[in-house]
Order: sequence, then C-alpha cells, then structure tokens
Amino acid sequence: VLHAQNVHKQFGETIILNGVSLEVHKGDLVSVIGPSGCGKSTFLRCLNFLEIPDRGRITAAGVTIDRQGGPWRRADEHMAHRLRTHVGMVFQSFNLFPHLTVLDNVLLAPRIVKRQTDTVKRDQAMALLEKVGLGRVAGRYPLSLSGGQQQRAAIARALAMNPDIMLYDEPTSALDPLVAEEVLNVMRQLDAEGMTQIVVTHDMRFARVASDTIVYMDGGHIIEAGPPDVMCVRPTDERTRRFLGALL
Ligand code: ATP
Ligand code: MG
Repeated sequence: VLHAQNVHKQFGETIILNGVSLEVHKGDLVSVIGPSGCGKSTFLRCLNFLEIPDRGRITAAGVTIDRQGGPWRRADEHMAHRLRTHVGMVFQSFNLFPHLTVLDNVLLAPRIVKRQTDTVKRDQAMALLEKVGLGRVAGRYPLSLSGGQQQRAAIARALAMNPDIMLYDEPTSALDPLVAEEVLNVMRQLDAEGMTQIVVTHDMRFARVASDTIVYMDGGHIIEAGPPDVMCVRPTDERTRRFLGALL
C-alpha cells in the first residue's frame, strides 16, 4: 500500500533525509524508531506531503508522486491532496479543534471532502467514536477530556476519512502510561482489523509487542529494519545495537 523510494529532504544546507526507502504492506504495523532529531517526523510528514521531499518517489494508496528536484506545482499539490484523503495522520499534540465538540471534530473532515447526507455522516462518526470508546463523550469539548481521550478522538477523526493508511507521530508521548495504553489498544484493534499503520514512537515496549516491522533510522538513513524479535534481540548494525542497548 505504501512505497517510499529514495526520499531526500534538506532544510537549508542540512540534509535530514538522505535517500530513505520503505515498503509497507497492507495490514502491517510498522514502528519507526531512532535518536531525537534523526528525521523520523520529517520522513513521516514527507509520506503525506505535509513536507515536500526534494527528491524521491512515494506511492500511497494508489497515488504516486515523483519528485526530481523540480518546483512544486499546482498539479503536484492536487495529487498530494488526493493522496492525503487516503492517509490519516495523528500527531503528538492531538490537534483537535477546541471550539468544536468531539463529534463535530470527527464530522469536520468528511463534511468537507465527501458528499453524504448529514444523518449518514453523523451515524458513521458516532460509530467511530464508539469504536474508540468515546461514544459517551461525543458532545463534549476536547479540552474537557483527558489526553488519552483527546488522542482517541484524533484517531476517530482521522478514521472518518476512511483512510487506507494511518500515520502516527509519537501518539502517546504526551500521555501518562496508563492513558497511553488506551491509545495503543485502539491501534492494536485497528491492526487486528487490517489497517495499515506507521507509527513513530519512543515506546519500545509497544514497538516490540505490536509491530510487524521495526525500522531504525539514524543519520538520514534507514539503518536497519526487521521483525521485532530480530531488531530487539540481535540487530545486525552496531548503531541499532547501541540505540536499543540504551533502551532495553
Ligand atoms: P524527535 O525524536 O525529537 O521527534 P525526529 O527524528 O522526529 O526527532 P525531525 O523532527 O524529523 O526529527 O527533525 C530532524 C531535523 O530536522 C532536526 O534537526 C530539526 O531541527 C530539523 N527540522 C525539522 N523541521 C524543520 C524545518 N521546518 N526547518 C528547519 N529544520 C527543520
Ligand atoms: Mg519527531
């Protein structure tokens, strides 16, 4: 479902991504780990063109955008917009609209993008909120909820677009462990239902128990990728070993 090939990105003179390639299969849960500042968030943002890669080719949910260093044109933005409608994104800081109820937050995306009757959309939004365990707080405002509830609302909102792929950038970093667990459980449930998910995380326990693949990034590259058993027990690369050694 997702294929990133040779993605390059620099900010000014600083090279952040120096040819990153990643293939993710349908239904996979991929955890991306690596030291702070190594470009994990930048890479994730490149995958749905919130950040425009300088070079590289990304295919997601059947949409391909090929960057060869040229200017970013209106036609590219059009493709990126199409791609984004299939790729949900969840951020560390929830990014809900505080002046809208949880239900209205979930309704917002499909309201703009997809044409359906209001009742259908409402029923679907409520079903999504039930699914993430927020049916009873649908009418409340985000700031009256716990961090874990807000993050689950953010996931429901992303799901409302009916995405093929979900991207998460440190979805639990702002949460205490107990509440984080509720969010991780939603991701596990989505995994069981066959959703394709990529999560940047510092939570090695989650990466280890829940991922199909762990990707280790460092110095603008993917150093090594593999199943958790291999990555956590006997990583090949010295840098992975050192990084994980400090954590496990
Ligand atoms: P962390 O684990 O701390 O979240 P990260 O691996 O997600 O780190 P990125 O946020 O991708 O790292 O940032 C990689 C580097 O790119 C950092 O040095 C950061 O300062 C720089 N950077 C990120 N975004 C920009 C930007 N818009 N302009 C300039 N530099 C940026
Ligand atoms: Mg980051």
